[in-house]
Amino acid sequence: MILLFFLVSECALCGESAREGARYCASCGTPIRDAEEAERDAGAAIERDPRNAEAWAKRARARAARGDLAAARLDADRALELDGFRASFWLDRGRIHLLAAQEEVDLRAAIEDFAQALRLDPKSTRARASRADALIRLADLRGENGVPQRNAALLFLQEALDLDPADVGLWLRLADLRILRGEFAEATEAARRALAIRKTAPAHLVRARARAAQRRFAEALEDANEAVRLAPESAEARLARGRLLISLGRFSDAVAEYSEVLHRRRDHADALVGRGRARLAGAEPLLAIDDLSRALELRPNDGDALEARGAAYFALRRYDPAIADWTRAIELRPPLRARLAPLRDEARRKRGEP
Ligand SMILES: [Zn+2]
Repeated sequence: MILLFFLVSECALCGESAREGARYCASCGTPIRDAEEAERDAGAAIERDPRNAEAWAKRARARAARGDLAAARLDADRALELDGFRASFWLDRGRIHLLAAQEEVDLRAAIEDFAQALRLDPKSTRARASRADALIRLADLRGENGVPQRNAALLFLQEALDLDPADVGLWLRLADLRILRGEFAEATEAARRALAIRKTAPAHLVRARARAAQRRFAEALEDANEAVRLAPESAEARLARGRLLISLGRFSDAVAEYSEVLHRRRDHADALVGRGRARLAGAEPLLAIDDLSRALELRPNDGDALEARGAAYFALRRYDPAIADWTRAIELRPPLRARLAPLRDEARRKRGEP
């Protein structure tokens, strides 16, 4: 996802980024702006002719763009009842299922719809990419047991790229998936392919993540710099640069980067956590506690913020709050136990000292 400060230029339904000023998504026809107006227009068309399947589909997309997914799904159902042979209607409904998905059953419904779209339009790259998206979500739910879904997603993306090797979005999805699979060199290569077609901030950011995972922080920083240059208003790009500056030991530069984000939006929780960590690493634990406490007011269950604030308290020899933060962090995220339990034991020992 691309997080922009001022304008949302990403399709709510299919996630494709839209050209600045575009009214509709070029890929799926969902309104990017003026969704209410699009919904009214489609509603009027439905009133004139209730058997106009395209009008129902249009209203479904407009309602999805507004975030009313329950109503969007009813409209999408109606469009399919009227015309079940349109691959794009199946795709729309699948994407609505995917947006609304909380559990496996929703993801399975989405996958079924995408499979149907693929049967009707065997060369559809969008159906393959969407199916890969749903499979990746399913794999996330299953955690370590999600390997078969990630394998299947990889196949769908590779098939889609065979059909359309010039689709930047497909290369970016592939790069993301390669990172999830721990295949960082392949991820770097997929991002390079995307960049060879079009230089975009998201492509630089995904390559930055792949390079950072390989501990190639200096090169990753070059990518993050490019992303910030291409999309100066993108918080995501600046957050990525902040993380890399911390990895490179440039703590005051990292603080400045996060401050830039907070200057535009003072309640940005990720930026507060990032700046808190940068200040902790830069031996400013008091200021770190300020940032992390503000982040925790916004997101009380943020394990990263609790871990870092615990460390800041520890640095100040305030062992009781350090123990409390680390205990809560372990409760929220049990895998943190391996790292935090020994530190907590140390804090308990020190607290016991006179
Ligand atoms: Zn779209």
